[in-house]
Amino acid sequence: MAQAPPPAAKEAPVDCIFCRIVAGKAPSKKVYEDQYVLAFWDIRPRAKVHLLVIPKQHVASLKELDELPVETRAALLSACVRVAKDQGILDKGFRVITNAGKDASQSVFHLHFHVVGGEQLREDAITKDPTPQP
Ligand code: AMP
Repeated sequence: MAQAPPPAAKEAPVDCIFCRIVAGKAPSKKVYEDQYVLAFWDIRPRAKVHLLVIPKQHVASLKELDELPVETRAALLSACVRVAKDQGILDKGFRVITNAGKDASQSVFHLHFHVVGGEQLREDAITKDPTPQP
């Protein structure tokens, strides 16, 4: 069955910091760009390598993934691998994380994938801090 086209792109919110970066109105340390995505250093890196990969088209989080054209969805994941390779962290290992919504502690509401590595990462980045054992 043919796939339904994604809904028309919504207007980006004027106050979105990542839209401002895409538009060149806010600074970033860019590492990769194509027609669909942009990748740049996280302003507060929490690993030796900590990049963010974002779609140029604004959607708030992974919850809205279906609003993006399928080409952009594919480009996002490909860019995660590509920037990891460019940073030399492909073989030793890297992690790709996206926080979606309040429980996941998302703080910037423009879909982004964190690409982290370059050093040994904590084993569990999945849940809240471990509950102390009695
Ligand atoms: P999250 O908590 O998953 O929404 O992550 C948002 C990330 O965006 C955080 O790691 C911030 O350090 C990062 N961040 C916020 N503003 C900027 C900015 N202007 N340039 C680069 N990274 C940013």
